[in-house]
Amino acid sequence: MRPEILFPLFVPVATLPGIGPRLAETIGRLAGPKVVDLLWHLPTGVVDRRAAPPVAGARPGEVATLTVRVLRHMEPASRRQPYKVLCADDSAEIVLVFFHGQRDYLRRMLPEGQTRVVSGVVDHYGAEIQMAHPDYMVTEAERDSMPAIEPVYPLTAGLTGKPLVRAVAAALDRLPDLPEWLDGSLREREGWPSWATAVRAAHAPESLAAVEGATPARARLAYDELLANQLALAVVRHQQRTLPGRALTAPGELGRKIVDSLPFPLTGSQEQAIEEIRADLAADARMLRLLQGDVGSGKTLVALMAMATAAEAGAQAALMAPTEILARQHHATVAPLAAAAGLEVALLTGRDKGKSRADTLAALADGTASIAIGTHALFQEDVAFADLRLAVIDEQHRFGVHQRLDLASKGHAVDILVMTATPIPRTLMLTAYGDMDVSRLTEKPPGRRPVDTRVMPLGRLDDVVAAVGRSLDTGAKVYWVCPLVEESEALDVAAAEDRARHLRDVFGDRVGLIHGRMKAADRDAAMAAFVDGPKDVLVATTVIEVGVDVPAATVMVVEHAERFGLAQLHQLRGRIGRGERPSTCLLVYAPPLSDAARARLAIMRETEDGFRIAEEDLRLRGAGELLGTRQSGLPAFRIADLALHGDLLAMARDDARLALNRDPDLTTDRGWALRVLLYLFERDAAVRYLRSG
Ligand code: ADP
Ligand code: MG
Repeated sequence: MRPEILFPLFVPVATLPGIGPRLAETIGRLAGPKVVDLLWHLPTGVVDRRAAPPVAGARPGEVATLTVRVLRHMEPASRRQPYKVLCADDSAEIVLVFFHGQRDYLRRMLPEGQTRVVSGVVDHYGAEIQMAHPDYMVTEAERDSMPAIEPVYPLTAGLTGKPLVRAVAAALDRLPDLPEWLDGSLREREGWPSWATAVRAAHAPESLAAVEGATPARARLAYDELLANQLALAVVRHQQRTLPGRALTAPGELGRKIVDSLPFPLTGSQEQAIEEIRADLAADARMLRLLQGDVGSGKTLVALMAMATAAEAGAQAALMAPTEILARQHHATVAPLAAAAGLEVALLTGRDKGKSRADTLAALADGTASIAIGTHALFQEDVAFADLRLAVIDEQHRFGVHQRLDLASKGHAVDILVMTATPIPRTLMLTAYGDMDVSRLTEKPPGRRPVDTRVMPLGRLDDVVAAVGRSLDTGAKVYWVCPLVEESEALDVAAAEDRARHLRDVFGDRVGLIHGRMKAADRDAAMAAFVDGPKDVLVATTVIEVGVDVPAATVMVVEHAERFGLAQLHQLRGRIGRGERPSTCLLVYAPPLSDAARARLAIMRETEDGFRIAEEDLRLRGAGELLGTRQSGLPAFRIADLALHGDLLAMARDDARLALNRDPDLTTDRGWALRVLLYLFERDAAVRYLRSG
């Protein structure tokens, strides 16, 4: 339950005074629906009104506060012309310009013959000095009511600065006095203010530098956010580690049978990862391990070996994939290998219904099936396991901490192995996984040929089609990836359909099409027709991005490659270069290329090393963007900017770990304060895992 002290922050924005439903809705779209969201909507700039030069000395393009006499109203002859008011001081004249100005209002605000203080951006228009739509027009007596320095907030269409400033001010009036969750000596060392002071200060920046994150107030808030993130991960990890596990040991007979049935030996990194996992399984504590390896590095096999160990010890294991296609593919590869060891593998996805589903559930419930592969359907309520002891999660960044734990809750003392294909830079790893144990597959299976990557402009599409034709003649299969169009699935699909039609004109019936709007069954059929059917060219939207394995596919065309991020291009390219034959990747772009896009394509041409690509991606985009991207599955931070606050992250990790070691259930005074922090940043899912919630 959320602590009562936070209630005022977790109510709709519309409950603030002066915020009507329309404004609340706009703010909701911009910052979020709750009062607390407004607090995190920090200014990105400032307006400094302190410059108060004589009119003649005001610099064009800059904000100035001018004290002027109102000389004359010059009412326009037609509505199309602006309303002008001539003013002056001893140094020069200035014309205040109002488009669609209302006569009565302007006469009232700027009476002729009187002195007024006006503040706004000054412009030179020919020889004339102008100020269009001053932000403030006040009497000299009211001058102090005008802020000297004003925060500038990121805005959205339909929202101007002033209502937002008022809304934030109203939110700041609601700030509760929260208990301090930071360690006193840390605060002292860093010179950080209290939380409430920090929030207020962050919304009252005194300079541009202050909105760029370098102030104690911003640093404190960033640290709070990172601490909440690290604490949530640490709670989960801590309970995973300290709740008794059960030692799973097996002589390894089944694993040996599987390896013997393979036409190739394991790579060194696979062997090492398998050893590390077996050691975790054999230990009393519960395993929480991340298996990190580039696309095609052979993670599935490592997972199977782990699952075989569980099975040999008389328990069950489950492998959860993010999509239906992937679950089916895993099943198709794993089942025959497992059969070599006499193990039955059940497949369970959202599409299984009726009798076949009932049979699968029965096999899981009575333990006949020792390995289960599926989608999130695996943790639906009516799924019961005889004795689930190992959960493998092929994450590909599509699951969160909850789902990992939901699957774990299907068994008793379940060991968890998370597999991820996107290599993440170390700093970012910490935000997504805390300090999980990590096994890395650094070698690619031998015999792989490097992918020949080429970059060419869309203007040479005919050459690309001709090259595809030549590859088809040699028996290759070809992926043709169509771009994301403005995040609209309907448009993506239309683009892919157009391309498929075009390619069918050239290659006829050999061209297939797959996209996210197709029914699952149709998608599977389209995939099957490509894997070992009549289709040799597969036009696809990025649904094929996830780990589908077609060794015969040796050519990939990526259309509008400039629209893809590096990580995504790398994932896509990982679909080829999986067989014995040399592979080619054609990155087709529409000029002109932005500098960033040019750099991305150059990196793709230069290297296939996923870790290097991930680091370059971080460098090119900045952590903020990397974290914010929908695809990444990494947590998005609202205040912390890892490019700037990266060193705070490691501090927060150590802090979280220490706090939990001292106070595992967060029940001391500081513990309760830390709970408030978790709720404040909406990481409260973690609180469920504390003993006295
Ligand atoms: P990942 O899931 O890491 O992207 P996969 O597990 O799908 O990679 O493996 C990719 C391909 O490599 C599969 O066809 C698999 O059979 C093959 N493979 C796995 N391990 C080896 C190995 N040691 N030697 C040769 N091929 C391997
Ligand atoms: Mg895989």
